Amino acid sequence: MNSVRVRFAPSPTGSLHVGGARTALFNWFFSRQKRGSFVLRIEDTDVARSSAEAESGVLSDLRWLGIEWDEGPDRGGSHGPYRQSERKGIYDDFGLRLLRAGKAYKCYCLPEELERRRQELLALGRSPHYDGRCRNLSQDECAGLEREGRKPSLRFLVEEKGILLSDIVRGEVQFPSGMVGDFIILRPDGMPTYNFSCVIDDHLMEISHVLRAEEHLPNTLRQLMLYEGLEMKPPRFAHLSLILNRHRAKLSKRDGAVSVSEFRELGYLPEAVVNYLSLLGWSPGDDRELMSVQETVEAFSLERATRAGAIFDRDKLDWMNGHYIRTLDVDHVLRPSLPFFRKTSLGNADEGKLRKILSVVRGGLVKLDDLPHHVSMFEEKLPEYEPDARRLLEEPSSAEVLSAAARLLEETDVSSQESARAWLDAVGRETGRKGRELLMPIRAALTGSLHGRELPLIIEILGSRDCRMRLEHASGGKT
Ligand code: GLU
Repeated sequence: MNSVRVRFAPSPTGSLHVGGARTALFNWFFSRQKRGSFVLRIEDTDVARSSAEAESGVLSDLRWLGIEWDEGPDRGGSHGPYRQSERKGIYDDFGLRLLRAGKAYKCYCLPEELERRRQELLALGRSPHYDGRCRNLSQDECAGLEREGRKPSLRFLVEEKGILLSDIVRGEVQFPSGMVGDFIILRPDGMPTYNFSCVIDDHLMEISHVLRAEEHLPNTLRQLMLYEGLEMKPPRFAHLSLILNRHRAKLSKRDGAVSVSEFRELGYLPEAVVNYLSLLGWSPGDDRELMSVQETVEAFSLERATRAGAIFDRDKLDWMNGHYIRTLDVDHVLRPSLPFFRKTSLGNADEGKLRKILSVVRGGLVKLDDLPHHVSMFEEKLPEYEPDARRLLEEPSSAEVLSAAARLLEETDVSSQESARAWLDAVGRETGRKGRELLMPIRAALTGSLHGRELPLIIEILGSRDCRMRLEHASGGKT
């Protein structure tokens, strides 16, 4: 039996950020490399902040990235249910177990009382830990407080001792005693707090490795205490480096796009986002940067996850995106391009035509969002002439070429590059011109510019009708 089981455990309170996506990817790579299982667990115990829309958004972002999970709320599995809100009874049982063992106690303090005391401690320059006043309440005292209408939460009793974490990425991490006070594990409404449900689920779902961002280290301390209290073996932990902005501060919304859906809407390809994120806090150990998922899975190793913060470098992401737009199969790039074509008058053109346009322009794109600007030449509108193109069109010799071109177009089909070439040759024979003298006026008339991709390619895409219209317009309607 394979023992590697990892999980990605998003809280469905908003959109999936690059940090979460990176965590999901590393878990996925690791599970695939070890031929283990990858579990998707929805941590929705914060009822006020969780929503079904956010959950489905996160799932669709994960799918867009190409991540596949073996067990999860949408596909079931032998360790379900996979939504914490559906596991409430399980947490109650474990809470009772700790209560009976004297490792947890009922706490009747109200949120406003706790907050007041916290502020008082902070004002005195002391750590604002819970003062433990409900630790030793007698049964009578409990009953009295309940008669007052107070509902208890369940608080874990923290022992005075240091905790040692042996982290796969960070090595030995020593947490001295006194870092945390007794903490709540079940709220008065019976909902577990994150640390409690996380420990129980990681245990019941037989998670072998927990890979998550470094900012969770304070949670890991509490979770290790809970494992000990519940007499359960903790999983191995790997805390991944933080993702930072250019100023080495934590990446935030103020730094520009940070969510997966924003990147999709800006026209980044999942291949580029996945490749880029895979190198944030990990390296294959050689100087490879452009790597397919398969290559990353083969090379992946937690031993080569880096400890230092990883800078989110948008220029590098752009470079990778341009690379994938240029080099992936054009049909593959076409599908995500369609919404961007729809922003232009080409939105209703048939896919065959759009594929040809994409193959002509994709070399110049960084993001698919750049597409509308690059395809304007192919839209059903007359070109705007650049100054040097206009000057050329005003020369008498151009008029002669354009008029022959228009005349011959009546008899020629230009629906392929060969036939377009044959047409250009015929115009050459008729006018006695060749090379730039022949091609430049036609290019200027058709595209408004003296520069661009091979003319037969452009002619094929425009087709006879468009070519005729443009030639006519460039000759001032004289053809
Ligand atoms: N629900 C937690 C989060 O989204 C999960 C953290 C963990 O991986 O344990 O931050």
